[in-house]
This record gives sequence, structure tokens and C-alpha cells, in this order.
Amino acid sequence: MNAVFRCINGCDGEYPLTEVIYRCPSCGSLLEVAHDLEALREKHSGSEWRELFNSRLGTTRWPYGSGVWRYKEMVIPNIDDQSIVSMYEGNSNLFFAKRFGEMFGVKDLWVKMCGNTHTGSFKDLGMTVLVSMVNSMIRNGSPVKAVACASTGDTSAALAAYAANAGIPSIVFLPANKITTAQLVQPMANGSIVLALDTDFDGCMKIVQDVTKNNEIYLANSMNSLRIEGQKTIAAEILQQFDMEVPDTIIIPGGNLGNVSALGKGFKELKALGIIEKMPRIVVAQAEHANPLYMAYKNGYENFSAVQAKKTLASAIQIGDPVSVDKAISTLKQFNGIVEQASESELSEAAALADRTGMYTCPHTGVALAVFMKLAQSGAIASDERVVVVSTAHGLKFSEFKVGYHEKSLENITCSHANRPIELAADSGLVSEVLEREIEKVINNRI
Ligand SMILES: *Cc1c(COP(=O)(O)O)cnc(C)c1O
Ligand SMILES: [Zn+2]
Repeated sequence: MNAVFRCINGCDGEYPLTEVIYRCPSCGSLLEVAHDLEALREKHSGSEWRELFNSRLGTTRWPYGSGVWRYKEMVIPNIDDQSIVSMYEGNSNLFFAKRFGEMFGVKDLWVKMCGNTHTGSFKDLGMTVLVSMVNSMIRNGSPVKAVACASTGDTSAALAAYAANAGIPSIVFLPANKITTAQLVQPMANGSIVLALDTDFDGCMKIVQDVTKNNEIYLANSMNSLRIEGQKTIAAEILQQFDMEVPDTIIIPGGNLGNVSALGKGFKELKALGIIEKMPRIVVAQAEHANPLYMAYKNGYENFSAVQAKKTLASAIQIGDPVSVDKAISTLKQFNGIVEQASESELSEAAALADRTGMYTCPHTGVALAVFMKLAQSGAIASDERVVVVSTAHGLKFSEFKVGYHEKSLENITCSHANRPIELAADSGLVSEVLEREIEKVINNRI
């Protein structure tokens, strides 16, 4: 079994996964990892694959306990296990969002908690694959010396951790003052060379592409299609968690649009292997301040044009010129797709409301939940559907957003669910009096 890089436009030529190549030499489009699906089909039937994947759940047998490498044959079949750099990423829970779903008439709403992983975002899923491949190349004498990425905060945290785990130097290019404290500290702690540039993400992306041209520094951005191979395991994991029953609709926040492309690729390959028959509908949720895909969707995908992304609380998706737009549009066309957007106010209120039902949502998950609310209210999502919202990061990485909301200091946002600490003298009588009043308030206003 062999997997290779191929042009997404179908140009001739295939390239080994150990080659330093990000774009098709003929047409300049992105590449994708092409699997030998026929060989995989011959190896096992759909039900044998299912059994194999189930048998690896939770194992310590290296590296199959990882939520990515559990599906190794579908991810990178031809890498030796000793080169794999893994933190047993993935394996994230599905949160049954019963109370939240019922508020909008949907009884079967689940949130896939992709932020419950090593560095706190789904970026781990792709980074384990990319860094493993680089590690394997270096072990086999490649001239690659370091790995680099431009980032809106989560890619760099993941790259830094995986590179540190493998002992490979990493360089991260961050837009100065546009990421959270946690996201900045993560690569610092992991020993990355951290460059804060006076530009936005799209500006950092241009620079990192220039400095990786000599092929001694390996480019770890999502134009690198190795990451897609790890991220596509979100599809497999969701299925395994539902005993291989395909949900009706999956809502995923989109910025550079690699993750939605990955999700689609995962489902397509699972179908090709006979593991599933049906396909879900895929919805991309964008922030109104960075909505080029939404604008294109409104035009029937004619004439996609990049936009200048405006500042958004959903900082990881503040991207106006998404690198994986072609892959994403083709995915949406194949999955009966919808693109919907959420304003700053909608994403903040949705996140806060979700928190009131026990979640602790990052702003990007807020975008996806706001889109869920809109589609459930308009009837585009029917009440009997099984819906999965992909939560992309852990809320704890976005304390500035949470604090700002509850202090009501977010600009132009009402913050309807703000909840402040009550400052009181240390007096039991007084405390009892206040509690009586407050408990009543909570009961009466229960959402
Ligand atoms: C990277 C990221 C996204 C966007 O994913 P794309 O593949 O760029 O569309 C969304 N949310 C979070 C938290 C992220 O880190
Ligand atoms: Zn091509």
C-alpha cells in the first residue's frame, strides 16, 4: 500500500510523501494525499476495518492508541511506527448538548470536542502527521533542518509542541497582538523561535512562504496536505462514536478552510472503503468579519474573491484569503453544503448561552453554535436531525474573550448572559440573605 501526493486538479504526476513539495508544479494548485483505495478495499471489508479500528481504541500499543494513528492505513500507511511523533491526540469526547439543542427544537445535538486534546485545538490532529513525516525524512537523511508556520495561534501551538517532542527546531510567525496570551505562551514554552510580525495572518503567510522556498525549512501550514490526513480522522472518530451511524448534518467553523476539506475527504474515503454508505450534510460557519466563502456561496460559488478580513473575536478564523478554498467549495458541492455566517454579537451570545448549559466554548465554536441556532430557527435543520457541531478549540485558551464578555467590555455587544462575582463582606447573615435572592433569580431566569 502506498500513498502519494497528487494535484487536486487532476494534473499528471505523483510525488512521494517524503518530497518537499506543496503545490502542483504544472498548475500551481494544492496537492492532496492520494491513497490506494483499491488495495485498502482488497485488504479488508468494511466490517473488518470497523473491527480493526474498534480493537485499537484506548490501546497503549504504539502508536495505535492515538485518535489519528488508530486509522494509520487510511492516514499514512507507509511510515514506520518508530518515526511517528504522537501524543495520543484526538480521542476527544462527543458532548451531548441536550439542553442547548432542545432550546432550538433539536433533540439530537452533539458537540465534537476537538479542543480536548494535547495543545487545546484540533490542530494537533494534523500536526502529528506532518511532524511524523518530517521526523521520518530527517531520520532518512533529508536536508530539512526545521519546521515553520504562520498562525492565528493554534497551528503554532501544535507545531511547537510536536516539534519539541521530536527534538526538531520550529519557527512560528504570529501577527503581533492578534492572538491570545495562551496561544503566544504555548510556543514560547515549547522552545520555538517565535516571531511576532507587524501584520495580519495573511501577511505572515506571505513571509513564511518566502523563507521556506529553499526547502531547508519545512512549511507546516495547511496548504501542506499532510495535515489534512490527520484532520480527516474527525470524520472517522465521530462515526466510531455513533457506532458507524452517519449523522445528518455537521457544522464546522471555517477560516483557511482546511478542516472542512479534511472532514469531506474523511467521509468520502470511509465510503470508498465500504465502511459507511450515506454521507452527511456539511455546513461551514464563518464569522461575518471574515466571510469570503459565505459571499461566494451566496453567488452559487461563481467568482470567489478574497476579502480583507476585519477584526473578529473568532481570531483563529480571521482569514480573508483562504488557501484551501477550492477544496472547500468542491467539498460543499458534494455534501449538499450550506455556508452561514455569524456576527460578533451572535457568536458571543451563542457561546455564552452554550456555557450556561455546561459547555465552555471558544469563540469559533460560538460561530458554529450561532449558525446552528439560525439554521434550526429557519428550518434548514429539521427537528429530527442528528446534528454534530465541531468545537475546534478549548475555551480555556480564550480567557480574554470570556473575561471581556462577563465584564461587558466587548465592544458593541450586549452580553446578555454576563455573570459577575458578587463582592460581599465576610458576614454569614449577609451572605445568606444575598443567596436567597440570587438562587430565586437563577431559578426564575433558568434558560
Ligand atoms: C484553525 C482553526 C479554525 C479554522 O480551521 P481552518 O482549517 O483554517 O478552516 C477554527 N477554529 C480554531 C480554533 C482553529 O484553530
Ligand atoms: Zn495541477
